[in-house]
Amino acid sequence: MGTEITLPSGRKAEITPIDGKTERLLEDKELLRNGTLIDKYLASRIESLDGDSSLTPQQKEKEVLDMRTGDRNFLLYEIRIDSYGPGMTFNYQCPSCKKTSGYQIDLRKLLDDETIKVHPYRDGPLRVELPRSGGYAVIDYMTGREERKGAQLKGNPISGTILIRVKELNGRPPTLKDYDALIGEDLAVIRGGIKEMENGGLFPTLELTCLDCGNEYPADLRSIIDFFAPTKTSTGSAGP
Ligand SMILES: [Zn+2]
Repeated sequence: MGTEITLPSGRKAEITPIDGKTERLLEDKELLRNGTLIDKYLASRIESLDGDSSLTPQQKEKEVLDMRTGDRNFLLYEIRIDSYGPGMTFNYQCPSCKKTSGYQIDLRKLLDDETIKVHPYRDGPLRVELPRSGGYAVIDYMTGREERKGAQLKGNPISGTILIRVKELNGRPPTLKDYDALIGEDLAVIRGGIKEMENGGLFPTLELTCLDCGNEYPADLRSIIDFFAPTKTSTGSAGP
């Protein structure tokens, strides 16, 4: 029997702790390149979804692919705690002074005291009105599908993100030609909408303070190797 959790969307999942075989997925450069790493990682740890424990590995992978990113992140977070414990010790380089500081956090505590928040989802997709063209854009929550497309993006993150995230531009999916014709202010409004739609479910971003220069900056825990493959020492403290 695994651990029962309730995702931000209300869906129920039963998870089992990471083993060596799943941890080894992190070494697979091809999975990272084609954007399927997190799908396989999550699918391997889900025992049941909404009470259904008969799902095949392929069905589980499809389920997590269609799942909202805010739910996927919550799963990653709970699997991390279930597998390695809530303690996370890591070093992080300050983007300002480039000095590295050591941090020690408790993932469970950060969730409980809402330092890392779980946001409720809005009812449907977001529609934004475009002030310059008079048109509109419809933006939905990101799912594993858009995450996968994002991972496959090669060197065009500005236009690529908008083309992946905008479901409808004046009634149909936008093309690169549509993007090229958009005026700056409309693009800015669309980017604002995309940002707003990140406030659903869990995004494990933490404000860190550089112990050297005092600069504060956000760090995405998913970008830190110790989130996925932590090292436990007898003292449990990170060196600077
Ligand atoms: Zn600094």
